[in-house]
Amino acid sequence: MVTTRFAPSPTGRLHVGNIRTALHNWMLAQEEGGEFILRIDDTDAERSREEYVEAIRADLKWLGLNWTREERQSTRLETYEAAFAKLREAGRIYPAYETQQELELKRKVLLGRGLPPIYDRGALELTAAERAAKEAEGIQPHWRFKLDHEEAIEWVDGVRGKAKFDPAQLSDPVIRRANGSWLYMLPSTVDDVDMGVTQVLRGEDHVSNTAVQIQMFTAMGVTPPAFAHEALLVGKEGKLSKRLGSLGCDAFREKGIEPEAIIALLSRLGTSLPVEPIADRGKLLETFDLGTFGRAPAKFDDAELERVNTAIVHAMPFTAVKDRLPEGIDEAGWHAVQPNIATVDEVSEWWRLVTGPIDQPEFSAEDRAYLAQAAETLTWSDDPWGALTSALKEATGRKGKQLFLPLRQALTGMNHGPDMGELLPLIGEEKARSRLSRTTD
Ligand code: GLU
Repeated sequence: MVTTRFAPSPTGRLHVGNIRTALHNWMLAQEEGGEFILRIDDTDAERSREEYVEAIRADLKWLGLNWTREERQSTRLETYEAAFAKLREAGRIYPAYETQQELELKRKVLLGRGLPPIYDRGALELTAAERAAKEAEGIQPHWRFKLDHEEAIEWVDGVRGKAKFDPAQLSDPVIRRANGSWLYMLPSTVDDVDMGVTQVLRGEDHVSNTAVQIQMFTAMGVTPPAFAHEALLVGKEGKLSKRLGSLGCDAFREKGIEPEAIIALLSRLGTSLPVEPIADRGKLLETFDLGTFGRAPAKFDDAELERVNTAIVHAMPFTAVKDRLPEGIDEAGWHAVQPNIATVDEVSEWWRLVTGPIDQPEFSAEDRAYLAQAAETLTWSDDPWGALTSALKEATGRKGKQLFLPLRQALTGMNHGPDMGELLPLIGEEKARSRLSRTTD
């Protein structure tokens, strides 16, 4: 069984990049009928906020990315403690006493010599007496995971293909701070083991974490899950953009973007498949395949999202939208206005033309006479617009714009808008006649 997880830190709102990662993990699980875990990475008590946990849940629900299980790292601290003790006993975790400034200095020296700034494992050189002396001075250690330099790190990445790291080229990662709090690396690995995660899909920025975590899995005596790292999301200019980092569900909702448009776009963006306005998730799932993901950054463009959204709105069935429509609008009303809107919110602007009141423009004397004639000619049938316009054409010799525009203006107050053939039956006979005759007052 496939088990994936989406593991946000509740230190802010989800942005479009997180949403994309969540979606892809959801899809991987959904494809196989597997488990999709929402894991709240809240070990950082200072920066984590309950309001963000709630917002993350609400956003995922709005997007329809339902999780089958929720976990919180803050409730699992004892488990991390136990894993830590075991790894420490096995000699894979060691205390280090360098201050931030000392580490910074070491980095600078290495960089100055043109060498990679890899931690020199100075802490491993300390004797027991030296460590005791540090602690006697009141210096609490932070803790590093000791990479095995003999154990090559290799995996077949679901997106990037064969990946290989030389552990000697990596710093032993700090996994725990001097105050006892956890950094991301170990808890995440422990959770992936305990929660039976089979597939870790995350951003490319985590590739070197994966290298380290693969050794952690092995040190814990388990086979690592499958890993895949997707190329990052960038703005349409091709740069990592600050704006994308703050663009989330609230902004999308405000612009009238449907969750299905976000899903359709983000499921295909950066893949070799075309972005299409597909509202049926089943269809998107059928074609979802990590093998189609490219290695170049995926470019996010608002205009593309808006195009996908409009196409999705134009194809939306009444049943999907009826609870969000203005009072009184029925299926025929939805169909009449649907081709004219870019977002569902815009329905009310057009629906006002039906319910009124409307503002008519000034008409010329000639048009006023024409409209008076129209009011008299109007008969009610299955197709009142067709009947009215052919009768008027016959009687007046008007055609094209001259024939149609004054009628549209008198009936709706607008120069353009929904198909009059659909709109007129919705306006109704009485209201239509009074709008046509009102111009002659
Ligand atoms: N909390 C981590 C993050 O948001 C999770 C990364 C992961 O998926 O392992 O970057």
